[in-house]
Amino acid sequence: MTDVIVVGAGLAGLNAARLLARAGKKVMVLEARDRVGGRTQSQKLGQGIIDVGAQWVGPGQDRLLDLARNYGVRIFPQYTGGKQILALGDQLSTYTGTIPALPVHSLVELHLRLTSIETQCKTVSKEEPWTAKHARAWDSISVEGWKQRNTLTAGTRSSIDAAVRAIFACEPSEISFLYFMHYLHCGDGFMRLADVKNGAQQDRFIGGVQQISITMARELGKSVKLKSPVRRIAQGKSSVSVYTERGRFEAKFVVVAIPPILASRIQFEPGLPAGRNALHQRMPMGSVIKCFALYDRPFWRDRGFSGEVVSDGPCVRLTFDGTVPDTNQGALVGFIPGETGRYWSTREADERRSAVLNDFARFFGPEALGPMQYVEKNWIQEEFSGGCYAGLMAPGVMTEFGPTIREPVGRIHWAGTETATEFSGYMEGALQSGERVSSEILRRGR
Ligand SMILES: Cc1cc2nc3c(=O)[nH]c(=O)nc-3n(C[C@H](O)[C@H](O)[C@H](O)COP(=O)(O)OP(=O)(O)OC[C@H]3O[C@@H](n4cnc5c(N)ncnc54)[C@H](O)[C@@H]3O)c2cc1C
Repeated sequence: MTDVIVVGAGLAGLNAARLLARAGKKVMVLEARDRVGGRTQSQKLGQGIIDVGAQWVGPGQDRLLDLARNYGVRIFPQYTGGKQILALGDQLSTYTGTIPALPVHSLVELHLRLTSIETQCKTVSKEEPWTAKHARAWDSISVEGWKQRNTLTAGTRSSIDAAVRAIFACEPSEISFLYFMHYLHCGDGFMRLADVKNGAQQDRFIGGVQQISITMARELGKSVKLKSPVRRIAQGKSSVSVYTERGRFEAKFVVVAIPPILASRIQFEPGLPAGRNALHQRMPMGSVIKCFALYDRPFWRDRGFSGEVVSDGPCVRLTFDGTVPDTNQGALVGFIPGETGRYWSTREADERRSAVLNDFARFFGPEALGPMQYVEKNWIQEEFSGGCYAGLMAPGVMTEFGPTIREPVGRIHWAGTETATEFSGYMEGALQSGERVSSEILRRGR
């Protein structure tokens, strides 16, 4: 009998399996897709390889940086030369640094609110956020509610909207203020998550980040089974049976390393405890479509633009320079997050492509209308992701159901970036959760 079956070959599941195998356990990884890597996926674009899923790494994400180093995957800095653009309504303005060009009273208010968020988020325990001093109050309102009560200026409000869309791929009304503060603390604070230099958007991976999952899977060899979606998990006294369309597999323990909302599609026998079952139903994924346009050169750089735009427009709300080093070509990467992602998800591909390119042209000039190539990835429609970047918590969820998030149920243990206490929602968090769950199982022994 296998010692441990891992459900899901994303970074969390693969790291758990790898560490358990290294500790001498017999493991099997069951992956629904025909590839490993989950929310990381790299593909060719022109002369280079881009990431249509996760792409950045930054300071403090040491597990990911160490793995990349050990596997010989090099990183390179996100391009930041030149000015950024803030597009509010019909107005385009330029700025440098992290904080956009706003009227003075908005800037003062924004500074005060961000300073307070930065200090207060550190008071929320990473492990037990539901015990925070203001847990009940903060979990009773959304970020939108908090914003309405605590801010006055349009500039501060639109900056908070933009930050939530960029960091969470959702609207401020969709997440609780406690969840928001906890997420920030896990990620080392607001500025760390929002910034490029010295922040979570600092570096990218040469050759794409999916290489890391592919190398981990190679280490595990034949024990990784692709095209094997798990449909049912039945626990007995001394073992667990896992059912896929390819048959039944048995192990002493099971690690479920998929987003909680996807776990709600698996049939558990006996049924899960009420709290855990409710958690699975209450962590919807964020919404994002990621788009790339390839050009014969990064023409925006010649005009003094970094490629970074924050917009409140009806389609692309965030762009960056997506150019791959050592090529002549230039790429722009655009994100359509939250409500606009959901809207554009319902439109035809051609209509979406022209809306994206029109936005790029509004920001950087008409040259943007004629890319050599255009690719996009709609994560909202991915059956085995259900959206991105991660599972979210609306008001009331963290205080009521949060304590179940890492609590094993019999022989079933839970991993995935949503369960992390460091960089939850990020690749680093996924790796940390794999590490934690492998130690849990090794401690249990038999
Ligand atoms: C567009 C986008 C941009 C992002 N940007 C960044 C970034 O720049 N930096 C960063 O650190 N993070 C980023 N993220 C988030 C990051 O990708 C995730 O946090 C991380 O990859 C999650 O890993 P995981 O192993 O927890 O989950 P996943 O990667 O979702 O892995 C779960 C695996 O389980 C499989 N699965 C699902 N259901 C079943 C089933 N029933 N049976 C078997 N297998 C199943 C899935 O196919 C998947 O392979 C981004 C994500 C997206 C989509």
